[in-house]
Amino acid sequence: MAKRAGAWDGNVAGEMFVDDSCIYCGACFHMAPHTFHDADKHSVVGAQPTNEADSRWAHLAAVSCPVSAIGSDNKSAFREAAAALPIAYHDNIFWCGYTSKKSFGGLSWLIQRDNGNVLMDGPRYAGPLMKRFDELGGIQHIIYSHKDDIGDAAKIADYYQCPRYVHIAEEMDAEEQLALSEPYALDDDLLLIPTPGHTLGSLCVLHNDILFTGDNLWWNPNFQSLSASQHYCWFDWPTQLQSLETLLNYDFRAVLPGHGQPFIADTPEQMRDELSRALAILSQDRCSKNNQNIWECPNG
Ligand code: SF4
Repeated sequence: MAKRAGAWDGNVAGEMFVDDSCIYCGACFHMAPHTFHDADKHSVVGAQPTNEADSRWAHLAAVSCPVSAIGSDNKSAFREAAAALPIAYHDNIFWCGYTSKKSFGGLSWLIQRDNGNVLMDGPRYAGPLMKRFDELGGIQHIIYSHKDDIGDAAKIADYYQCPRYVHIAEEMDAEEQLALSEPYALDDDLLLIPTPGHTLGSLCVLHNDILFTGDNLWWNPNFQSLSASQHYCWFDWPTQLQSLETLLNYDFRAVLPGHGQPFIADTPEQMRDELSRALAILSQDRCSKNNQNIWECPNG
């Protein structure tokens, strides 16, 4: 529960605030950028919501904070947000919110499909979220992009008795451990693309024109660019760059990450241009290993 007494001085006055329990995961300012701002090592309310849409997203972000560091005087908006997640985001994709501290606020996504709903990575296990999952048809498959962003996926898999898919190199507890060196079609509309680099067994998942990127690639609003992080690369940075380059071979116009901001281009061609532009910057190796700040790093 966020406490007014611990609110950062940088919050603008008003109904919402961030307190000093913030772990700087970025989930709130990626989910509700109009309200929450990056204040260097923590988040603040940079602008109080002044319209219905901003208020809704701000409260969805508040519910989704992994450490409950966001407070609001608007309790009814909080309750509504708690019952609204996962929230429709793009086509048949729902943003789960309810991030987990175990995955440092990693984002997870629900794909609603005729052939069985898919949970991409894992949120926190929460009663209202499970109720909404039930209403949306439950979950028939869980795919892990890699080992870091799984939250309470094991508990959710147990509830739905559904298989979890992961690359075998992640050495994780999962029903389906895939030894992939080439893209693998799990179904007609689900292509698992091995993208080693951030971790050895990292995967991207292509669904229609949407690419779920885990911690391989995201939108960095500070630099208005697709981005990746050398500092937060756990396996091998040159390998990660090579993997990102292979993504130029695919048509997609949405990047939905585990960490960082989502990005939807107008066309696959525009996305390809953005990825090429990002690769040109990332390949310059301007990101110092000493730069601890994922959000300020030119590459991160
Ligand atoms: S979601 Fe919570 S922990 Fe993460 S940056 Fe925002 S306030 Fe901080």
